[in-house]
Amino acid sequence: MYRGRIKRPNSKGSRLCSECGKKFIEGYCVYDGKEYYCSDKCLDKRYSASKYVSLYRAGLAYYSRWGNSHE
Ligand SMILES: [Zn+2]
Repeated sequence: MYRGRIKRPNSKGSRLCSECGKKFIEGYCVYDGKEYYCSDKCLDKRYSASKYVSLYRAGLAYYSRWGNSHE
């Protein structure tokens, strides 16, 4: 998928997938945290690849990691 560079936001800890409800520390953030997706599979259920790319280019979606094990 189109992960691009991994950003490190200030917030830490895990996130819940908006699709399957699974807890994860590395995945997709959409609309600046309004929605989260744990995997390509879950993201794909809500957004097509071309839709995700347009969101990504607009800075509205990106792949990230929220783990706190490296702090
Ligand atoms: Zn999921």
